[in-house]
Amino acid sequence: MKRVFSGVKPTGHLTLGNYLGALRRWAEVDQHRADALFCVVDLHALTVDHDPARVRRLSRQAATLLLAAGLDPRSCTVFVQSHVDEHARLSYLLECVATDGEMRRMIQYREKSARERERGGSVRLSLLTYPVLMAADILAYGTDEVPVGDDQTQHVELTRDLAVRFNQRYGHTFVVPRATHPPVAARVMNLQTPTSKMGKSDDSGPGIVYLLDEPEAVRKKVMRAVTDSGREVVYDREERPGLANLLEILAACTGGDPEALAGAYGSYGALKKDTADAVVEVLRPVQARHRELAADPVEVERVLRDGAEKARAMARPVVDRAYRAIGL
Ligand code: ADP
Repeated sequence: MKRVFSGVKPTGHLTLGNYLGALRRWAEVDQHRADALFCVVDLHALTVDHDPARVRRLSRQAATLLLAAGLDPRSCTVFVQSHVDEHARLSYLLECVATDGEMRRMIQYREKSARERERGGSVRLSLLTYPVLMAADILAYGTDEVPVGDDQTQHVELTRDLAVRFNQRYGHTFVVPRATHPPVAARVMNLQTPTSKMGKSDDSGPGIVYLLDEPEAVRKKVMRAVTDSGREVVYDREERPGLANLLEILAACTGGDPEALAGAYGSYGALKKDTADAVVEVLRPVQARHRELAADPVEVERVLRDGAEKARAMARPVVDRAYRAIGL
């Protein structure tokens, strides 16, 4: 059976982008077709200014949402990254095969570090090395496939490069993984600035739909989504990004095709209304299940403890092999 690994950062509240781009497919497809691990990657939340209590709280909330989205601990392994030391151990070895040049070329690093400097802040070294830790997350489990949204493509490419380089230098140690993406909504855009992705780490705003938003809030945000001054509903990602985003969200929620849906609408208003309704319906069962699970945090803790134990047993032999191969 294929080994699948993916994760989510507890840097903010999870968004519709996280759900449509990743979580939903993990739950509906990946956990059933593969030996799958899903992780709340809390070490990655330390790469920017953070409040310790908030990170801890958001980690538990993210884990609870993974379960609420339908991940079943009987079908897959759900855990928190910092509970398994192997990630950090392996990350250091991979830092010894990565170069500073390839780290500085990462688009996310360039964008995030520029933003940090603009604010007058300093850039943490861990922001630069973040993709190496992500490579360790993936390689520690002998992962074949990494189901992610489009925004992570470059990081998975780097992971492949590091695996190949390590294997060539020190003998075959790692499986070389590949990224897989959902067929639609692999990049859900911000509803107010549809040329940038809907990211949870951004300041909370009217352009981001959170998984735990009340139906009224969802409706308001979708109805106020920025489109353009045209009238005709067409699907064109380059010229009409706001409209294309709504069509993709609607398609992802209803199982349709964005191009075909465009032909079915005569006005922006009707499209927005149906999209808002569809998002509310998609979120409803996730929110209901989240309420139940959040009422029993002890059970969530138990699931995470079991998950970490299973994950550790899988990662340890791989990381031990890497230690021996590199000369330790
Ligand atoms: P972020 O912090 O940007 O919300 P994470 O790094 O925690 O995202 O990503 C968790 C998963 O959600 C990844 O697979 C990522 O590709 C996916 N994802 C994040 N944002 C979006 C988006 N706007 N559209 C589609 N997928 C997304």
